[in-house]
Amino acid sequence: MPINTTGSSLPTTEYRPDTLFLEEGIEEYPLARDILSRLPDVPRQGFQDISTLTEQMKSAQYDVFGEGKKSLALSRFKGSFLKKCPGVSPGMVCCNYYVVNLSKNCIYDCSYCFLQDFLGNNPMQVAYVNVEDLLGELEEVFTQYPDRSFRVGTGELTDSLALDTIVPYTTHLLPFFNRQSNAVLELKTKSDQITNLLNHSDPTNIIVSWSLNPQTITEQEEKGTPGLIQRLEAARACLDKGYRIGFHFDPIILIPGWEEGYRQLVDILCDTLPIDKVEWVSLGSFRYRPALKSIIKNRHPETRLFTSEHLPGKDGKFRYLRPLRNQAYETIRGYLMSRSKVLNIYLCMETKEIWEDVTGKMPRSDKKLDQFFDL
Ligand code: SF4
Repeated sequence: MPINTTGSSLPTTEYRPDTLFLEEGIEEYPLARDILSRLPDVPRQGFQDISTLTEQMKSAQYDVFGEGKKSLALSRFKGSFLKKCPGVSPGMVCCNYYVVNLSKNCIYDCSYCFLQDFLGNNPMQVAYVNVEDLLGELEEVFTQYPDRSFRVGTGELTDSLALDTIVPYTTHLLPFFNRQSNAVLELKTKSDQITNLLNHSDPTNIIVSWSLNPQTITEQEEKGTPGLIQRLEAARACLDKGYRIGFHFDPIILIPGWEEGYRQLVDILCDTLPIDKVEWVSLGSFRYRPALKSIIKNRHPETRLFTSEHLPGKDGKFRYLRPLRNQAYETIRGYLMSRSKVLNIYLCMETKEIWEDVTGKMPRSDKKLDQFFDL
């Protein structure tokens, strides 16, 4: 699997929505006014009810999910922001993680993205601007449980940083998490949009993590995303600024030559950054719910995601066969361990059998990993 080490074939997306859809009364929120000031020339259209807006869009477009990415709706989220990571599912070991969904959909277009199915009925790209309500809710929960540690991520239904220069959530989240004694914020991204992070003076309680794949896989399966080297340069800049950083090799995609591709990925990572200073690398293999397969094949006919056999697990998701997953985890874990004796490596969304096969133990029996699992 040849690799383009320049990583420059995919320019960073300078995203500008075609249209801004504004929920009635949204301008009363400071973040909405901030976003509008950053996009003065983008056409605006008001709406009262986002479901009506979504129905209009669905009736007018062919690739509804793809079209949803081209516009941006500013709305107010009316429910509870904080929820337990959906990795809590039958047969899976979960890393005890909380998510807040500040926005939905993503400017990138990865072939394997579960949002294509998950947001199928509601594909509008939405940014919720009532960030004050989120911070109030978090403050209440963190105060109510002072003896618990909260690890909170914003990247479940979107990329945490891809839009941060247009929708600057981090300018609100970073100062808030800096003050917490029992919570950390994880910003999970494929982006290099780190300007707000570099302009912020305090990295306390913030972890920034990048999803990585070999550059050839990025070019084929992660459309519109910054390349490997751009991501690693962003990670290095954040590390230099004092942020804690992590990496997700997720989804690991097993196409012919994957061993060499991931070996090169580990080498480039470790040659670019002081790997011993990285908080963790997580490993997770490609997985999907059955309904996603036909969507992927329709939207990404050139994909190589289905070159191997997949079988459903207890949680209903399809994965590579267990021996192949074991082999991939052991091989990639071996590459990483050959470059660092202290790096924390864990498996994401995997069964306890795979944990035991690959690591010889369950996560709770490893002190180093307890910081991630004993929350
Ligand atoms: S970066 Fe993440 S959220 Fe965005 S398209 Fe890719 S997989 Fe989906």
